[in-house]
Amino acid sequence: MCGIVGIRDAGGVSFELYYALYALQHRGQESAGISTYDGTRLYKHKGQGLVAEVFNPEILTGLKGPVGIGHVRYPTTGANRPENAQPFNFLYRDHIISLAHNGNLVNACELRDEYECRGQIFCTTTDTELIAKVITDEMSSSGCIEDAVHRCMRLLQGSYSVVMMIDGVLYGFRDPLGIKPMCIGKTEQGIILASESVAIDALGGTLIRDVHPGELVCIDEDGMRTMQIAVADRRAHCIFEYIYFARADAVMDGALVYDVRRKIGAKLFEEAPVHADSVCPIPDSGTAYAIGYSQHSQIPFVESLMKNRYMGRTFIMPSQKEREKAVRIKLNPIREHLKDRAIVLVDDSIVRGTTSRRIIGIVRDAGAREVHMRIGSPAIRAPCYLGVDMPTREELIASDKDEEEVRRRITANSLHHISLDALVEAIGIAKKDLCTGCLTGCYPVSISGEESRSPAVDFLDGTYQTKLELFE
Ligand code: AMP
Repeated sequence: MCGIVGIRDAGGVSFELYYALYALQHRGQESAGISTYDGTRLYKHKGQGLVAEVFNPEILTGLKGPVGIGHVRYPTTGANRPENAQPFNFLYRDHIISLAHNGNLVNACELRDEYECRGQIFCTTTDTELIAKVITDEMSSSGCIEDAVHRCMRLLQGSYSVVMMIDGVLYGFRDPLGIKPMCIGKTEQGIILASESVAIDALGGTLIRDVHPGELVCIDEDGMRTMQIAVADRRAHCIFEYIYFARADAVMDGALVYDVRRKIGAKLFEEAPVHADSVCPIPDSGTAYAIGYSQHSQIPFVESLMKNRYMGRTFIMPSQKEREKAVRIKLNPIREHLKDRAIVLVDDSIVRGTTSRRIIGIVRDAGAREVHMRIGSPAIRAPCYLGVDMPTREELIASDKDEEEVRRRITANSLHHISLDALVEAIGIAKKDLCTGCLTGCYPVSISGEESRSPAVDFLDGTYQTKLELFE
């Protein structure tokens, strides 16, 4: 989890980066940062908190130059510490480097150990710093950025979408399996790389395409060049981006997330029809699914829980007790919509089960007669090692329980999770090209103690296919 953005725009980039990060705020609320470059020096600002808390107009005005990168952080690897806020900025010989990363490396410990044995030091506990080390390592021998990214793709195991600025040239690359998203867009005078297309929309720009898995994109004053560095025989797009993480208005690897969720809602009705008075979403993550269920079943869509928009995601709460309390503050039932009704309650996922159990309690207290729970993801059975904040197997309610046992625990009258096949069909990407690790326990990269099936990756040695895509 985390959101990244990189922009080149002759008219200046700091405010554009700010708006883009604002659009990506859902991808990380712990810290935010921006680095820009004006041809001679780097300007940077980052801090703990939301984008609006970290920046103000004065700070943004001070971030000068026609190129820059930005990051919002949700901690997966590396503790919640101020020094872990990104972008990371480095001086290497005469080069000024700034780098931001979305993803999680599964071989970070081994790599870090290797570097430390060679006497290298690290300033943070993140895996992102390692990416910079691999880059500068290669720059010290060949001096070539393409070779440095090539080396990254050979050495780094896991998920990584990266934006990087070296001496004012903007680079973006995506791991060969395309686990984490990244797309390219065009604004009036500029070009933007971002985790989700919503950042491009926020700038009034146009989505050009996704960065291909294993591709390096390079943007300078002449326009955009792209190089395919590695090609895998299949992809592994994170399925959880479609289920929960991405914004519903994002277009990701060719699919509009809202449509995917609406289709899943329709399929939920096909797989588990029920007689009920209304379909109610758990806002906001269940909304598109509930609309799909309602449209397909012709059961009226009735909002019955109101969300306090000013509260962060319940997951941010550090302890179980606080998480439970948070649900009450976050959602208020509309009693008039619930009293004596049989309702279909729709959400995207059940992780620990805490949210569902509490919410079912709330709607029953408000008078609901029957609560039929419909979930837009299959049961989550295994942890994520590739960048989504998922608890351990012990904490995942469905890791060792069947659907009936989960239904009993969350106290629903009935429960249905969408089947994996229906979910895949709604996404419209072949199952072999999706990472389903959290649902199946089988991962696309090798992880000690876990089952895996890794794609074969070809590295395009020496001769990169360079394509110049100029601004029109
Ligand atoms: P729970 O079952 O109590 O652990 O929480 C499930 C709820 O958390 C669902 O409503 C999801 O919308 C939301 N959720 C699922 N995965 C995540 C995640 N990785 N981070 C934050 N919230 C999540």
